[in-house]
Amino acid sequence: MSTDCLFCRIIAGEIPADVVAETEHSLAFRDISPQAPTHVLVIPRRHEPNAAALAAVAPEEMADAWALVARVAEIDGLEGYRTVANTGAAAQQTVFHMHLHVIGGRELTWPPG
Ligand code: AMP
Ligand code: ZN
Repeated sequence: MSTDCLFCRIIAGEIPADVVAETEHSLAFRDISPQAPTHVLVIPRRHEPNAAALAAVAPEEMADAWALVARVAEIDGLEGYRTVANTGAAAQQTVFHMHLHVIGGRELTWPPG
């Protein structure tokens, strides 16, 4: 738990979130600024700055996060979806607590911006 981390504060219940589903290790909640009809963030309860860092220290928790991604897609009835993990400020990462964006519910273009 990092007290100055927004997502740790959501995990702790100090900041409200629109929770979609959760597991022992992960939480899924709707993005406050959705970029598509479905825009959910899947985060680990453990504070790690990005996806690679989580995979390095707790691969089973990364697997748990991905299982929750699939559960979110099922809950929202998505036929297909995009999962994005921004890493570093140059890639527009703004919250340095690992999160997977689950984006769907509309036609998605490729390549992404
Ligand atoms: P990133 O830019 O990859 O670090 O993504 C951070 C995401 O967190 C952005 O899409 C924000 O819209 C989202 N976000 C910021 N604050 C909140 C919040 N309080 N509840 C839900 N999502 C948030
Ligand atoms: Zn955190």
